[in-house]
Amino acid sequence: MIVRAHGKLNLSLDVLGKSPDGYHDLRMVMQSVEFGDDLDVELREDGQFSIDPGRWYLPSDGRNLALRAAVLFLEGTGLGASIRVNKRTPVCAGMGGGSSDAAAVLRALNQLTGAHKSAQELRDMGLKLGSDVPFCVTGGTALAEGRGQLLTPAAPLPDCAIVICKPAFAISTPELFGRVDARRSRLRPDTPGILEALERGDVPGVARRMYNVFEDVLGRRRGEITAIKSQLTALGALGAVMTGSGSSVFGIFTDEDAAQAAQAALSRHYQDCFLTRPSRALEV
Ligand code: ATP
Repeated sequence: MIVRAHGKLNLSLDVLGKSPDGYHDLRMVMQSVEFGDDLDVELREDGQFSIDPGRWYLPSDGRNLALRAAVLFLEGTGLGASIRVNKRTPVCAGMGGGSSDAAAVLRALNQLTGAHKSAQELRDMGLKLGSDVPFCVTGGTALAEGRGQLLTPAAPLPDCAIVICKPAFAISTPELFGRVDARRSRLRPDTPGILEALERGDVPGVARRMYNVFEDVLGRRRGEITAIKSQLTALGALGAVMTGSGSSVFGIFTDEDAAQAAQAALSRHYQDCFLTRPSRALEV
């Protein structure tokens, strides 16, 4: 069975604080996109597990989230799985590549085994693998709170063009969290404003409110992230923001031609540059 692992973007990302268990208390508006990996998932009667991760530098053992998802789902059934990933999503990009692969495996195995687990059961299982996995189970547009697992569906982002651009460097997520913790006062995303704009179907209203608190603590990486955002807006994006802990940046366009031109222009400097659209929440 072939399943799409949709990329995830943060329309906003806020860090509200740190809870005593060490997890950060987050508030994010998440959006899945059409762009993503394709996974070929097959059941194995012999109980063995294998994965072709699609990139030489990705793990093909128990460190691979997609493989771990299969082991978790099939625990106690005696069945195994073989997975082949057609990897498109850049790694360490803030696009939830591993989380989305894991969620896609849970969806695929739910169908292949006829287990008929509910979306919430798959999300609960997914949370054992990572905080972004529950959102990736059905994707769409959602408010994610807590570690990212407390999900409230939001009005879907209306169809628009999205240009994603990942600079060649990766950003360390723990380092960014550490710097955010150390900050006293900071600008906050207008999360209610984004949710209201989504309710109105107001794409420009969403785009101009997009904000990610990690952008304030990027240090020496800030220049390049800001430069990509400026290029996107100069080329017609209604707003541009970094997703997750970076390093990908995306811009939202209502003008398809402008989005195509922006992708072409940025592709001259950046290898990982994609044109995509929002995707709607999936049925499980
Ligand atoms: P997030 O947005 O959830 O913070 P990310 O997009 O920044 O995630 P990923 O690309 O999901 O980061 O993966 C980062 C790490 O996860 C890498 O170190 C990689 O080795 C590991 N990993 C495990 N399984 C996978 C997978 N199936 N695809 C990609 N990375 C994986």
